[in-house]
Amino acid sequence: MRGALGGPRVLLRRLREVMAEPVSAQDRLDKIVVLIAANMVAEVCSVYVLREDSNLELYATEGLKREAVHNTVLASDEGLVGLVASEANPINLSEAQSHPAFSYRPETGEEIYHSFLGVPILRAGNTLGVLVVQNRARRTYSEEEEEALQTTAMVVAEMIASGELSTIARPGAPAPAARRSMHISGAVLNDGVALGHVVLHEPRIVITNFIADDVNKEKKRLEAAIETMRSDLDLLLERGEVPDSGEHRDVLEAYRMFANDRGWQHRLSEAVMTGLTAEAAVERVQSDTRARMLRATDPYLRERLHDLDELSNRLMHQLHGRDYAPARDQLPENAVIVARSMGPAALLEYDRKRLRGLVLEEGGPNSHVAIVARALGIPAVGEIANATGVVDPGDAIIVDGGIGGVHVRPSPDMEAAYVERVRLRARRQLQYLELRDKPCVTKDGVPVTLLLNAGLAVDLPHIEETGAAGIGLFRTELQFMVAENFPRAAEQFALYRSVLDAAGDKPVTFRTLDIGGDKVLPYMRNEAEENPALGWRAIRLGLDRPGLLRTQIRALLRAAGGRNLKLMFPMIAAVEEFDEAKGLVERELTHLRRHGHKLPDRVDIGTMVEVPSLLFQLDELLERVDFLSVGSNDLLQFFYAADRGNRRVSGRFDPLSTPALRVFQMIAKQCNAKRKPLTLCGELASNPLGALTLVALGYRTLSVAPTALGPVKAVLLDLDVGKAAQLLGPMIESPAGSTPVRERLSAFAAEQGLQV
Ligand code: PEP
Ligand code: MG
Repeated sequence: MRGALGGPRVLLRRLREVMAEPVSAQDRLDKIVVLIAANMVAEVCSVYVLREDSNLELYATEGLKREAVHNTVLASDEGLVGLVASEANPINLSEAQSHPAFSYRPETGEEIYHSFLGVPILRAGNTLGVLVVQNRARRTYSEEEEEALQTTAMVVAEMIASGELSTIARPGAPAPAARRSMHISGAVLNDGVALGHVVLHEPRIVITNFIADDVNKEKKRLEAAIETMRSDLDLLLERGEVPDSGEHRDVLEAYRMFANDRGWQHRLSEAVMTGLTAEAAVERVQSDTRARMLRATDPYLRERLHDLDELSNRLMHQLHGRDYAPARDQLPENAVIVARSMGPAALLEYDRKRLRGLVLEEGGPNSHVAIVARALGIPAVGEIANATGVVDPGDAIIVDGGIGGVHVRPSPDMEAAYVERVRLRARRQLQYLELRDKPCVTKDGVPVTLLLNAGLAVDLPHIEETGAAGIGLFRTELQFMVAENFPRAAEQFALYRSVLDAAGDKPVTFRTLDIGGDKVLPYMRNEAEENPALGWRAIRLGLDRPGLLRTQIRALLRAAGGRNLKLMFPMIAAVEEFDEAKGLVERELTHLRRHGHKLPDRVDIGTMVEVPSLLFQLDELLERVDFLSVGSNDLLQFFYAADRGNRRVSGRFDPLSTPALRVFQMIAKQCNAKRKPLTLCGELASNPLGALTLVALGYRTLSVAPTALGPVKAVLLDLDVGKAAQLLGPMIESPAGSTPVRERLSAFAAEQGLQV
C-alpha cells in the first residue's frame, strides 16, 4: 500500500463492516488486527489497551503468540509501547531492538521482528491504548502508513470508549481505563461540594459516521467548511464590532492566522484522504492537538495549540450546521456544567434550581465567571485539564470546591464519603440559619455588625437569607464585567435602585467602578501594561475619564433619591485624589438639584484603604471622609508586593502575622479615636479565624461573602473578645518573626471551642 491511498480506504471500509457485525468484542478485535496486518503487509498487528491501573494489556494480536493475549501486561512507561502511550506520539523504527526503550517479553515471541510502528489510540486527547504493527524485515514505514494506522486507531478508540471491551477483560484484572474513575486537581473558584451529572456546556458533536462513503465528497465538505469559517472570521474582524485592540481581537486574529495555516489544513485533508469523513478528520487532528497541548510545558506553545484546538471546534460546528446550541434548555436535575471556558452571562442563563456545580478547563479564581459562580453560590473549580475530553454527558461527577478538584465517575466509596460531607454541610447550614435572627453580639457583650459583599442582582436575596445588617461592599464593576457592552446610565440606575429596594432600611455601600488590573472589560479598549495591578485602574481611570465616573455617580444619586446613599472610591492613593473624586460627586449633586431631581436625604462619602501610601495620610484622610473600608485583598497585595492572582506568591505572606496585624491595628486605632466608621471588606473578614482576629484588633463592622456570614457569626457569638485581645496584644508587640501568630490564634480558637 506504500504511497497509495487505496490501502487505508479499503481498510476503513472493511473495518466498518467488522464494526457492524454481531460478534463478540474479542472476535471483533481479533478480526480488526488481522485486517490491519493484511492491509499493511505486516506480520504483526497488536492492540494494547490502557487499564485502570495505568498498565497496558495486550488485548489482541495477529502474529505474536496467542497465549500472550490478556497475559502480557506492560507498565505504562515500559518498552516502546509504553513510550508511545506516555508521549501520545507515534514511534516508527526500522530497528526496534536498538532503541534504548525496547524491552523484550519472551511470552510474545517478538524478538524476531525488527521494524516497529506504534501509534497511540487517542480520544479527545486521552490515550486509551496503543496500536502496533511489526515486520521481520528492517523496513521504514512511510508517512502515509503512519497516517493510515492513526486513522485506524481512531476507530479502535471509539470501540474502547463505548465500554465494549470491559466485557472481555480477564476476570479479576483491572478494566480498560477509558471510563475509569479519576481525580483531577485544579484551582478553587468557589467553595462547596456538588454531586451531580455532567452536562457539557458545548455539547460534543457525536460523530456517528467515521468512514467516508465518498472521499471526494468529504474533501469538498471539509474545504467548504474551512472557507466559510475563514470568511466568517474575516467578517467578524472587519465589521468593526470587535474593538481595534484588546484580548478579544487578539484571540480572533490568532484564529484567523491558524485558519490560513497550511500545515493544519494539510493534516486535515490528509486525514480525509485516508478515508475518514470530514467530521472524523477534524476530530482526529483535534485529538492529536489536545494530546500535545496536555503535554506541552512551554506556555507559548500551549497557547498556540489551544488556539488550534478552538479552531477545530469552530470547524466542527461549521460542518455540523448552525443548529448547534448549548444545553441550557433541557437541564437535568443535579446538573454539573463542564466547559472549556465560559462567559459570566452564559452561566446566569442556566436554571439555578437545577445547577449544582461548575467545572472549567480554563478560568482562574479571578475570572468573571468565577465571580458569578460565587454570587450564585455554586461550587466551582477551574484549571481542570482536559475536563471536557475525559467526561461524557450524564457521567457521575463530584465537584470539590474546597480543594479545587473533581472526581469523575467516582467509586461507590468515594461517592458515599462525599454524600456524608454534603449531609454534614447541610446540617451546618441549618445551624447557621438558626442564628439568622440572633443579634451578633460576642460572648462578652461586644456588638459586631456583619454586612455582605455583593455586586449582582443575584446577590440580593442573600440579604434576607443570611439576616445580614446590610451590604458593606457593592462592587459596581460586576455589572460591567458580565455585560457585553458598557451598561447604559438607565441600566446602572435600574440596578442601583433594585439594590436599594432589596435592602430596604438596611444600609448599602456602593463602591464606584473598580475596573482595570485583573478586572478587564472585554469591550473596553485597554492598552497592554507591564504591571496592570499598579496601572491605570479604578479611581485613576475614573478621574482620567470623568464622563464614565460622573455617569455612574449620577445614576447612584438618582437611584438613592429620598434615601441615604453611601458611596466610596477604590484605590485612592493620595488625599488629593479623594478630594477630586468627592468634587465630582458635589458637581453631580448640584446638577441634579438644579434640574429638580429628588436628591438623597444624605450622602456619606468614604474610601477604600487599599494602597499602603494612605496609611501615612490617615490623619488628613480622616478629616475628609465619612467612613473608611479596608480592602485587605489589595492592601496586602501591595503591602507585601505579592500579586494576589499569582498562586506562586499569593500564599507566601500570612495576613495573620505581625506586620500585617500591626497595619490593621493602626487603622482601627486611628479610626476609633476619631470616631470614624470603619469596615473591613476583604476576604480576610470572610475567614472565621481572620474575623476573630479583626474583632480582637478593634474592628466592629465586617463585610463578608454571603456564604461566610453564617460561619463567621457562629464564631463571633462564642468569642470572648477580651481574652482574644489579651492574647493578641503582646504578640503584636513582640519582635516580628518571634511568634507563630496563626498557630497561637488557632490554638486559642480550639481551646475556646470555636469552629474556625
Ligand atoms: C479588596 O481589595 O480587599 C477589595 C475588597 O476589593 P476587590 O477584592 O474587589 O479588589
Ligand atoms: Mg480591591
